[in-house]
Amino acid sequence: MAGGLQRGGRGSAETRSARKMAAEESRAPPAPPLYTRGASQSAPPAARRPTAPPSGARPHRTARAPLPAAAMGVLAVPAGVRAILLDVEGTTTPIAFVKETLFPYVRDNVGAYLRAHWEEEECQRDVGLLRKQAQEDAGLEGAVPIPVESGNGDEELERVIQAVVDNVLWQMALDKKSTALKQLQGHIWRAAYTTGQVKGEVFEDVVPAIRKWREAGMKVYIYSSGSVEAQKLLFGYSTEGDILELFDGHFDTKIGPKVESESYRRIAASIGCATNNILFLTDVPREANAAEEADTHVAVVIRPGNAGLTDDEKSYYSLISSFTELFLPSST
Ligand SMILES: [Mg+2]
Repeated sequence: MAGGLQRGGRGSAETRSARKMAAEESRAPPAPPLYTRGASQSAPPAARRPTAPPSGARPHRTARAPLPAAAMGVLAVPAGVRAILLDVEGTTTPIAFVKETLFPYVRDNVGAYLRAHWEEEECQRDVGLLRKQAQEDAGLEGAVPIPVESGNGDEELERVIQAVVDNVLWQMALDKKSTALKQLQGHIWRAAYTTGQVKGEVFEDVVPAIRKWREAGMKVYIYSSGSVEAQKLLFGYSTEGDILELFDGHFDTKIGPKVESESYRRIAASIGCATNNILFLTDVPREANAAEEADTHVAVVIRPGNAGLTDDEKSYYSLISSFTELFLPSST
């Protein structure tokens, strides 16, 4: 078997069940093991398996024993999992897409966008919000005020537009997260996607794997700090075409931050299942940790361009580098 992995080992199920029962006696029944291979302490698997993280290495996780260590290969999804919850950046999509495509697109096109859409109500609302934000930011170094138009001809209009552009570039340079900035960015990206100037990138294994999961009866959801609207643009205008049909629902930080376990409880409630019926895939260990504390199954996704993991994280988490590494018992 690839990588000396075990599937369906009883020892692992017992190990995890015992741990979960000890941690949460009130919950019933205990979840099946996350990934069954390499999980048994009584039957150590092949040499590739790293040792468990040293105690105290993860001080925020003192309440429960760590999951079995993982190595790259095939990961068996436990039978209790009914839904797969996907992060976007670094999981379905290269982090570079946001940094090297979406943000530069705004920087390069904000002026042209404003000139093309200036007369539209939505654009005027966006500018109004930015102007208000600029007033709040007036005391900050380098802040760019946005004058009010008095209808004094094209030259004045161009000066106002240039002020909006300069304000947006200033905010972006400082990585400000103002609602005003985000709203205009969202509208610029919508125009870029719908006119085909930008296509949402997904790793090539993503679509075929999700199709298989769905054929096996799995529900698939997105949970990203990008807004639901941004998610729908990315997947609605992707390099693989409109793939929104692959998802049963979308969550963003309106349901809560990705690094807080309560968010995963809310998502489970919204889906209508238990947290341990969900497998969450993310590139960020802090998010994986929060999900796991809510009793959600997790695997950390390693993709080109992602931040590196520490040795402890590598040995602690189940890791995959492609969605095709997930093995659904019912899809054999
Ligand atoms: Mg991510």
